[in-house]
Amino acid sequence: MKVLVINCGSSSLKYQLIDSDSEGVLAKGLCERIGIDGGMITYQPEGKEKIKKQVDMPDHTEAVKLVIDSLIDKEKGVIASLDEIGAVGHRIVHGGEKFASATVINDEVIKAIEECNDLAPLHNPANLIGIRSCQAIMPGVPMVAVFDTAFHQTMPKKAYLYGIPYEYYEKYKVRRYGFHGTSHEFVSKRAAEFLGKDINNFRVIVCHLGNGASISAVCNGKCVDTSMGLTPLEGLIMGTRSGDLDPAILQFISNKENLSIDEMLNVLNKKSGVLGLSGVSSDFRDLGEAAGSGNEQAKTTLETYYYRVAKYIGSYVAAMNGVDAIVFTAGVGENNIEARQVIGDYLGYLGTGVDRNKNNIRGEEAVISSDGSKVDILVIPTNEELAIARETVKLV
Ligand code: AMP
Repeated sequence: MKVLVINCGSSSLKYQLIDSDSEGVLAKGLCERIGIDGGMITYQPEGKEKIKKQVDMPDHTEAVKLVIDSLIDKEKGVIASLDEIGAVGHRIVHGGEKFASATVINDEVIKAIEECNDLAPLHNPANLIGIRSCQAIMPGVPMVAVFDTAFHQTMPKKAYLYGIPYEYYEKYKVRRYGFHGTSHEFVSKRAAEFLGKDINNFRVIVCHLGNGASISAVCNGKCVDTSMGLTPLEGLIMGTRSGDLDPAILQFISNKENLSIDEMLNVLNKKSGVLGLSGVSSDFRDLGEAAGSGNEQAKTTLETYYYRVAKYIGSYVAAMNGVDAIVFTAGVGENNIEARQVIGDYLGYLGTGVDRNKNNIRGEEAVISSDGSKVDILVIPTNEELAIARETVKLV
């Protein structure tokens, strides 16, 4: 079956057409600046050159139409007609407590996703627009919602409650949800497979280190803790997000700088993290370069970032009363050799560490821990689109 995987943002739409039999990507692309002047569509058929065109897209329905036009184009297309698309898988950011797994989309599911809108006001409404646009262009094609939060729904209460009056949980469902669940599930399962271990008897810590970053403790295939919270702002220091901080900082800085709560959240989401700390960039390649050429602030930023990851690993070892494997994934986890080496250097107390030679790889599955380690350290590239396609096929 050919599955169209859609990841819709407020002004963007990312997609991949995946052949679920071969699990190969037939084509992928991106629509940018939807509803804004200067729209841009990128289309890349497998093994062929990327095509980039400037086209204004007044709304997401027009963007979906253009995606389909590219896919069925006589010359550059990869399918003969729309009928070849057997199902659509939608990435949905927040499923609240309503969704502990992926689900086939119907009117009731759409309503339930809508009810989660205030938990993810920037993401869920955009995801819903994506669903409705696909329904308009492809009526009758089965669609599946795959939630970023679902995998973390197995967390126990002690892991997801905040130390605030319980009534806020009861009234507004204020609790930790966690994100990147599709990646944490995919990578934890793959790590067990790769090591030839039984997932039902396997404790793994997954470090998803990308522009957004989160870490999870997965015990016997079930998430027992994760670093992101009510929103993706909590936890690790990220590209532009602060991660954990003393909540009183909000009031302190807003008073000093005369900023509203919304403006403060904008600072914490978009101007903080390694970008804010270093003043250089949110991109680890730029940071590495700056640190390499002697920029002390960039060096300190990297140290602070690594230290936070190492502290979280320690806390998740405690959460699971031990650990069998630690896995690095996503842009930084898969490609940044120094990050893995330095974080690995904190793990001596676990009887493990990163082997310099084995660690000299990028973007491939590998065990990188030193010989004789008590705990395996691995790199497992994530593939959220493939995970969404698999879930979609399973349900339709
Ligand atoms: P992601 O959000 O998963 O795409 O990850 C983006 C981050 O991965 C950026 O900070 C990139 O600098 C980092 N990254 C991607 N490729 C490399 C690479 N080859 N070396 C170092 N960092 C990389």
